[in-house]
Amino acid sequence: MSVSAIMLDGKKLTFNHSSDRIKITLPNPAKENEALNFEINYSGIPQDGLIIGKNKFNDRGFFGDNWPNRGHHWLPVVDHPSDKATVDFIVIAPMHYSVVANGIKVEESFLDANRKLTHWHEEVPIGVKVMVVGIARFAVQYVGKVDDISVESWVYPQNRAEGFYDYAVAIKVLDYFHRHIGPYSYKKLANVQSKTRWGGLENANTIFYFENSVTGKGEREALIAHEEAHQWFGNSATENDWHHVWLSEGFATYFTSLYLEYAYGHDRLVEEEKKDRQEIIQFYKKNQAPIVDTTIMDINKVLSTNTYQKAGWVLHMLRNEVGDVDFWNGIRTYYATYQNSNAMTSDFKRVIEEASGKDLSLFFHQWLYTGGHPNLTGSWSYNAKLKEVTIDVKQTQKGAFFQFPLEIELIGADGNKEIKTVKIEAQQSKLTVKTAFEPVEMVLDPETWLLYEGTIQKK
Ligand SMILES: [Zn+2]
Repeated sequence: MSVSAIMLDGKKLTFNHSSDRIKITLPNPAKENEALNFEINYSGIPQDGLIIGKNKFNDRGFFGDNWPNRGHHWLPVVDHPSDKATVDFIVIAPMHYSVVANGIKVEESFLDANRKLTHWHEEVPIGVKVMVVGIARFAVQYVGKVDDISVESWVYPQNRAEGFYDYAVAIKVLDYFHRHIGPYSYKKLANVQSKTRWGGLENANTIFYFENSVTGKGEREALIAHEEAHQWFGNSATENDWHHVWLSEGFATYFTSLYLEYAYGHDRLVEEEKKDRQEIIQFYKKNQAPIVDTTIMDINKVLSTNTYQKAGWVLHMLRNEVGDVDFWNGIRTYYATYQNSNAMTSDFKRVIEEASGKDLSLFFHQWLYTGGHPNLTGSWSYNAKLKEVTIDVKQTQKGAFFQFPLEIELIGADGNKEIKTVKIEAQQSKLTVKTAFEPVEMVLDPETWLLYEGTIQKK
């Protein structure tokens, strides 16, 4: 973009614009913590960050698409999640366009026979990665309200019936998160059919979905839940640096599963966790890095099975580690503490430790800062005289061994069942458990609480 002028209190300043940076020469040195308001005039066609072009129905549109740091191609900003700001989009466009953006619409005026001014105002500080405007032909449905929050569907007019049908489920999701995590941070929630390059992009209160997300078959509930979960985790409580992006993506992944558990029952959550566990095991074969991987230099690479599925699994195991009550108390406190602000992994750890009264240093170290997961092998046998089962377990993964509770289910010939929990605290362990009957089968992790692979055979 070409910068024509920069002003402070109406006075033009000297500046230098090169390599995507503007250096401004101040007339007087700024005092510490002094706030200055600059006016930056610029124009041009952005190279990236604002997608300009035709949609699948050959209609022209303009869609912001800033994630992760593409916003600075069209907005004069510090393009980093730690730098949040309020934002206004004031758009003058030909009459046939509708404009949607972050926040609430504070003005829509016809200027003359051909042009319309639309002004959206976001009063809550948000990250550049989720600042957005969409300018296109839209059909708009006001689906309803959760408390005072307006839930809206913005879709291409040609997809009006299908889009309104597919996106309407958003209100149910909002209601669940709003009541379970803590008050939603914004005044409206718009779900927008768009030209985003992503499947969904969680732009603050103005979520953009890929244009073929609309099918009329109601297939997007999980995607909508993921993007809505981001409104709490990622948008409101935001990671302070890219290497902690699991605080966005791992949370959005697991809170989608929690929503599905609420909507369809615990078996649905188990199904999701089993599917994710398989993906994590496959991913580990190619990439042994930990979830918090500070060796990543290209921030486009922070998104992976590690920061989505594995981080989601870490929250699932954390829930098991501290119990449902302390887990939810910790989650609510974390959100309340960092709402409209920024946090690091250590902040989340501290809050969960306070909520549960547990030292979680080992848990966080092995699951977030160490790569891999337990790969188990071994055998078990039953001693009829002592009425006990002996289990030999070995962890065969490369690198450090993990410490974790392991649930085992013992099954008798007549269908008797019993679940026992043993503690694995070494590379190689020999454990004994008392049992009331002779087991013929042993099932590892019967309730799906452990990220692991491998089997233990009957001797
Ligand atoms: Zn996401």
